[in-house]
Amino acid sequence: MTTKEIQKDLKNKLKPARYEHTLGVSDTAQHLAKIHGYDCAKAALAGLLHDCAKIHGRRSKKIALCREYGVSISDAEYKNPSLLHAKCGAILAEHEYQIIDFDILHAIRVHTTGVPDMSLLDKIIFIADYIEPNRDKAPHLKELRKLADKDLDETTYLILKDTVDYLKAHEDQTMDPTTVSAYEYYRDWHNSQNRKGV
Ligand code: FE
Ligand code: FE
Repeated sequence: MTTKEIQKDLKNKLKPARYEHTLGVSDTAQHLAKIHGYDCAKAALAGLLHDCAKIHGRRSKKIALCREYGVSISDAEYKNPSLLHAKCGAILAEHEYQIIDFDILHAIRVHTTGVPDMSLLDKIIFIADYIEPNRDKAPHLKELRKLADKDLDETTYLILKDTVDYLKAHEDQTMDPTTVSAYEYYRDWHNSQNRKGV
């Protein structure tokens, strides 16, 4: 499947707002790739596919897909299956859209929670998902959009910090332990940078 064909397929399958978000992430990822020295076409493709599993709205379908491909499901994912769209997205990208590039599949798999020590593409997609132009609800968007052009690690840290703060404030939301470990990793990195600066 070519990128154009994938785009057409997603346009048919995703809800219009989700498709617009997808294009926003793809464009933002391409922009960040250009600035930070990554392959723009790969970043654009990962952005295009990052939410491809959102075509499966039903919880049972996502759980079945993970079981079919032997992908483990955490407690947090059982409680909040919308988290599962990242793992399911990587499965669909590989098996329906024939993506074999490990970096792209990994960036899709970790785009919701983040993970400790993310690759350059992981960070590009994680950040692009949060700051793309259609987003307007998260705090600090203006600052984060500016900072993303300069420092992907610091931007990743601040997004994870805001995410953890938000989840702590909303007890009905499930916190995935992977989000916590990603946050702690980037918080430690951030603190070590500050120490170096003193
Ligand atoms: Fe997503
Ligand atoms: Fe998304």
